[in-house]
Amino acid sequence: MWIGIDDTDSRNAGCTTYIAFRIVSTFADRIISLPRLVRLNPNLKYKTRGNGALSIRIGNRTEETKTVIGKSDGKKISLGLQNNEMEPDFPKTYDNSMIEQVVGIVEEYYEKNQTNTNPGIVFSNKKFDTDIYRNALERDIPVDYIEEILKKTDSIYRKIGSGRGIIGAVSSIAWDRNRTTYELLNYKYPRGGYVDDMVKTIIGKIAESYDSTFNNMEMKEGKVCLFPKDRTPVIYGIRGLVFDDLIQIQEEINSRFPDFDRNYMIFATNQGTDDHILRLESGMELRELSSYEITGYVNELPLRKEGGHLFFGIKYGVTDIKAVAFEPSKGFRDELEKLEIGDHVKLFGSYAKGTIKIEKLELIHPSIIYERRSPLCSRCGSRTSNIGSLKYRCIKCGNVMEPEYVKTNYQRMTMKLEPPAYARRHLSMPWKLENASFRSNEYEF
Ligand code: ATP
Repeated sequence: MWIGIDDTDSRNAGCTTYIAFRIVSTFADRIISLPRLVRLNPNLKYKTRGNGALSIRIGNRTEETKTVIGKSDGKKISLGLQNNEMEPDFPKTYDNSMIEQVVGIVEEYYEKNQTNTNPGIVFSNKKFDTDIYRNALERDIPVDYIEEILKKTDSIYRKIGSGRGIIGAVSSIAWDRNRTTYELLNYKYPRGGYVDDMVKTIIGKIAESYDSTFNNMEMKEGKVCLFPKDRTPVIYGIRGLVFDDLIQIQEEINSRFPDFDRNYMIFATNQGTDDHILRLESGMELRELSSYEITGYVNELPLRKEGGHLFFGIKYGVTDIKAVAFEPSKGFRDELEKLEIGDHVKLFGSYAKGTIKIEKLELIHPSIIYERRSPLCSRCGSRTSNIGSLKYRCIKCGNVMEPEYVKTNYQRMTMKLEPPAYARRHLSMPWKLENASFRSNEYEF
């Protein structure tokens, strides 16, 4: 049986991953896959933060060999993970007592009395089609559409409030794990609490010392990016490509700071995979709320506007598109500000109202900058003076000439730019992972 959960937190408290952690801690002996933290369309207005949805897979029996994926109240969480290739040994009927217990856990921990918190819990004996996951990355899916699917597949579901969370719950189950990364989340309920800056730096450096991790620190600014604002049960989250490395990092942290050895768990995720990015082929129309890789030429110079957001224009085929880098991306804007007319760029980001919100950019081919000069007279070799309308007249013989254009010494290199780690989108693949090999098998670590 698959369990999907979403929309249980508010801006100020709670976290759906923590609810998944409680469920996994309770039913570890029946869970057959890593819990999954799946990020969905980053362009939606409903999201509280990172549009994350959770799913868990329950089997009738688990493998003999156990894999430790974390600790709950200081005790190991060990799962008997089944190979993805194997037909999951799902029961034909639903285990109602388990369903009630899971619903009970969600009811205990979701953020109550919040209009924007509308939990959805889904139980399904069938895995949902990957197309639903793709749609959930690219579009705004109506609740009714998901409810239809749930009815057709004889799934059981609970809606609290409007129950909009069923969209994320189903989409998380539908994730194909084609490209997988991992995140170790360390918890203290109800809030992560204060952590000293020195401790943060040590933990950040431990994580950063492993080549398989990403988005840990912004080295230039010495900023650690692992610790979210102290509003939720998450103390820190460490992201990486290699499951075993995350376990080792946690062990190193435990040896320095035993307080962090109580509650943590590793999730399989689609973070850092660019799964949401569609490659835009020439002639394709951009669709509202989808995310793209677009190649074009800068046709409008970068300009900072109110709020510190930086805008410029590109020409993609025959279409003019605006691009924006928002204020929180800080130094990224300074780099983008150096773009020149004619630069050939590839940019990645989500599209809405004629504008791409840039997640990263490659300067593929910088345009060559020419300087306009007054030419020497072609008849007598004397100097010329500017007479307007891009014309120059010889000061001796009156010959009228075109301007001369001279290549400047101002050389720019091709380059790959991205916001600092603390301002990246969860789904966005950092340039560091560009050539990484992502795990795709449920069983492989
Ligand atoms: P997180 O759990 O990381 O805090 P979030 O808080 O940003 O995520 P939620 O509170 O889960 O976001 O709210 C997002 C809401 O949008 C959920 O109700 C989810 O079901 C819904 N949703 C997710 N993807 C889509 C989509 N593609 N179309 C329509 N609704 C969606």
